[in-house]
Amino acid sequence: MLQKRGIAVSPGVVQGPALVLGLEDFRIPQQFVSVDAVDTEIARLHLALEAAGRDISENEQLAADQLGKQYGAIFAAHRQMLQDPKLVGEVEELIREKTYSPEFATCSVLRRYANIFRSLGNPYMAERAADIRDLEKRILHHLLGERREELMQLTAPVVVLAHNLTPSETARLDKKYVLGFATEIGGHTSHTAILAGALEIPAVVGVGNLVADVAGGETTIIDGTRGEVLVDPDEAALAKYRDSVKRSQSVARRLQSLRSLRAETRDGTRIQLMGNIEFPEEVEHCTGRGADGIGLYRTEFLYLEKDREPTEEDHYDAYCQVVGAFESQSVIIRTLDLGADKIPTAIGNVAPIATNPVLSLRSIRLSLQNLPLFKTQLRAILRSAVLGDVRIMFPLIATLLELRQAKMIVSDVIEDLEEAGVPFRRDVPIGMMVEVPSAAMMAEEFAREVDFFSIGTNDLIQYTLAADRSDQNVSNLYRPGDPSILRLIRRVVTAGRNHSVPVTVCGQMSSDPKFIPLLVGMGLRQLSVTPHAIPELKDVIRSITISQAEAIAAHAETLDVARDVENYLRSEIDRICPELVI
Ligand code: PEP
Ligand code: MG
Repeated sequence: MLQKRGIAVSPGVVQGPALVLGLEDFRIPQQFVSVDAVDTEIARLHLALEAAGRDISENEQLAADQLGKQYGAIFAAHRQMLQDPKLVGEVEELIREKTYSPEFATCSVLRRYANIFRSLGNPYMAERAADIRDLEKRILHHLLGERREELMQLTAPVVVLAHNLTPSETARLDKKYVLGFATEIGGHTSHTAILAGALEIPAVVGVGNLVADVAGGETTIIDGTRGEVLVDPDEAALAKYRDSVKRSQSVARRLQSLRSLRAETRDGTRIQLMGNIEFPEEVEHCTGRGADGIGLYRTEFLYLEKDREPTEEDHYDAYCQVVGAFESQSVIIRTLDLGADKIPTAIGNVAPIATNPVLSLRSIRLSLQNLPLFKTQLRAILRSAVLGDVRIMFPLIATLLELRQAKMIVSDVIEDLEEAGVPFRRDVPIGMMVEVPSAAMMAEEFAREVDFFSIGTNDLIQYTLAADRSDQNVSNLYRPGDPSILRLIRRVVTAGRNHSVPVTVCGQMSSDPKFIPLLVGMGLRQLSVTPHAIPELKDVIRSITISQAEAIAAHAETLDVARDVENYLRSEIDRICPELVI
């Protein structure tokens, strides 16, 4: 059994055969072959071995001619391994005895040898492991040939294991077949993680080395609640898995019963609990859990879904779908936050490659430099506002001038729509995300010029602590409980109160139950969260009083390191809602 720990980003426990997307995207299509097909499959293995042998001979000749005989010898070693009767015999035996497919049998045997070489702790032997990996790729290349399938063409349920999945790959995952996934890299609030939550696919990211040790087809458990990955689980682990499935089903049933109850503290203060969405289809995830509207609609995902630039009508249709679902509740449409890891190929040419993409031309900066793109979206938002309580929100505002410029573009679009006689609403409230430390520092000044603030802790933490939100190597620094973050939030809440500007928190921090007493205690009365978190957050809200929350916030704000803040909040939430931690 191989057991790995990573960062839990989308809850739920699933079990299924592993589909490995290796660094080279080699896919191991099936684990077993039928008993009748064993001889044919072994013949197919030998054809692949012969073809791989021919490749190696060609490379051996080429290297010897161009670089000298001693370089050719490297490939001679590969050829020897390929012709080793013991090695080939073991692969054949797995096909014959266990009816493994030749692909799976090849991976199983060669990866086992590679692991043995690697574990000897000798650099020379470790290089031999790399030779074996090379050989494996070569054989698989011939075995899989045209049968290499795409992630999109799955026909049976799998658990995906990959080095990384990009946000667009994640957005395109077929929920019917992808039960869950685990990636070697990635952080808690990377967009891949956020999308996993949106699609409600259990996921663990940042697990470290994984794909090289898994052949594909092995039974794999992904525990997206605890952040665990188990490959080839033993009986005890399988029993534990069955238990956690039962437990999470009963917790889910209890939480579902809160659906129609209000998010209200024990002493009767109403907390507006809204949903964060990326796709219009997620509206049902929100309405089904009793959300109070949409607090963050990440519209840039419209681009990730399409291979061409969306038209005004594409935007308009998507917005109408969302706004139409919330008759009397607000829908906050955030303008495009493209750039950094969210640049789709369709508009790849609008943002130059940057040395430091998160500090470069992303988000509102990109929109302000591409006015046709920005205006197209604004027209669609203003038109959809006829249908409901729509609000516009600008992302990544860093300076007052940027905000003023963006607001001016809205005025230009209003004039254009008026001139064209198109139906639209002109008094749409305009707010901004506070996700750059400069905006939090200048919150008093910004508060005079906006209708609302929404604190984007995902980016605020990244920029304040200089820790990439998608890099697990700095996840020890990337902490919502850091005192610096608490002070910035406090600053924004105070500015909002001074100027009667409502403040929301829409970063992932507000979807984590342990931060709810803190945020409510700091004065927040609106939160926008991942839809699947709504029931348990309601449970927390309904279990606290305002004075209790204020006392918790007051104590948390006296602590000077993130670890102490988070441990304290964890102990408080365990006390307030002992049943919650599943
Ligand atoms: C944030 O930064 O907190 C946020 C909500 O925006 P995104 O995660 O889309 O960057
Ligand atoms: Mg952000």
